[in-house]
Amino acid sequence: MQRLILTGVLLVCFSAQAQISIEAARLHQSPEHTRFVLDLSGPPDYEMFVLHDPERLVVDIHRARLSGAVDLDALRVDQTRIRKIRYGERGGTLRIVMDLERKSRPRSFVLKPVGPHGDRLVVDLHPMEALVAPIKAIVATSARHLRDVVVAIDAGHGGEDPGASGIEGIVEKQVVFLMARELAALFEGTAGYRAVLLRDGDYYVKLRRRIELAKKARADLFVSIHADAFRSPLAKGASVYALSEKGATSETALWLAEKENRSDLIGGVEDVSLVDKDDLLVEVLLDLSMTHTMRQSLDMGRRVIGQLDGKVRLHSRKVELANFMVLKSPDIPSILIETGYLSNPEEARRLATRQYQRQMARGIHRGIMSFMEASPPPGTLLAWRTNNDGRSIRYVIVRGDTLSGIASRFRVSQRTLQQFNGLATDMIRTGQVLLIPPT
Ligand SMILES: [Zn+2]
Repeated sequence: MQRLILTGVLLVCFSAQAQISIEAARLHQSPEHTRFVLDLSGPPDYEMFVLHDPERLVVDIHRARLSGAVDLDALRVDQTRIRKIRYGERGGTLRIVMDLERKSRPRSFVLKPVGPHGDRLVVDLHPMEALVAPIKAIVATSARHLRDVVVAIDAGHGGEDPGASGIEGIVEKQVVFLMARELAALFEGTAGYRAVLLRDGDYYVKLRRRIELAKKARADLFVSIHADAFRSPLAKGASVYALSEKGATSETALWLAEKENRSDLIGGVEDVSLVDKDDLLVEVLLDLSMTHTMRQSLDMGRRVIGQLDGKVRLHSRKVELANFMVLKSPDIPSILIETGYLSNPEEARRLATRQYQRQMARGIHRGIMSFMEASPPPGTLLAWRTNNDGRSIRYVIVRGDTLSGIASRFRVSQRTLQQFNGLATDMIRTGQVLLIPPT
């Protein structure tokens, strides 16, 4: 009896304190799921359930009200798994009903305050069917005779995790996304290369998942793009990082790695742990292949710096070492580029310009190409072009090939290709062997 009374008292205290307000609402759509986020003035007491025919997801948040600044009707639901959002308040409970486009697997969790970010309630809507990898381009090329070098480009942060912020509302997640897209376009325009954007919109991808996506895409290298902030507004210039398991080479490196590795807490990952418990990875780290990968990463980093030097301001001319989570692929050479400091007002303004973003992308592009040409992966067009000592190559036509396509792939004119093979027209057939003249 006494216990019952005590519980009652506690409940009263709790409810008296726990009136919370919803300060903001957002939607993020990733290739894998729709994410609905509410910014709250305190931790929520909520329930969530699904109703069928038609499919609806109901979220009841007790002792909560919408602040005047929030307009749930203004959320853009197109491209998401949600058709419409309705809401109402009754007896102190705020009910949000999402009419769903199709059956979804909902998951929800609460994010505790981190840094400038307050309490958040996150509702994810996953597809019922097995997750489909967002990488399509690779399938088309893997069947080819000579494959392209695959460049995995990782735009840092995204969605709930804006990264660093500078003056005039300039945020890292956006600046680095624009640079990543410039870089991807450069590689897409280069024969023998293909780019894969690990984040292709404003949504969060957890750090470990970025490594998985690169592996799934069979990436030959991984480049992560950031633009960070430091305690001092005087810090400026770009730096290139490679992985060090042992420790950071400078105070800045240590500070930045700690900040970047917190991303999962801010970006919204359930059950996140900052302790790296992957046994398999630990094993692989002991392996010599990791040493080889780390050596390659250093080489790639040096070449990127070589290309950036003189064109953009550098913070350091050496490849810095730090324990960044995203650089931990055991077999993919990986670098992380801090393209500048948003904490420096002058640099923030520059980072936000298209011209500077292009300049940076061009330098990274050239540096990576120089690295790849020095050690082209076997089986790639690049390896063939680099190693071929003036002899012609036999190319077997696969379905979908066109003569003009093959000509541009091997950088010869279509007319030369036709003459070299004695073809009267541009007709080719699957299985036919073409001789490609040396360039
Ligand atoms: Zn960052």
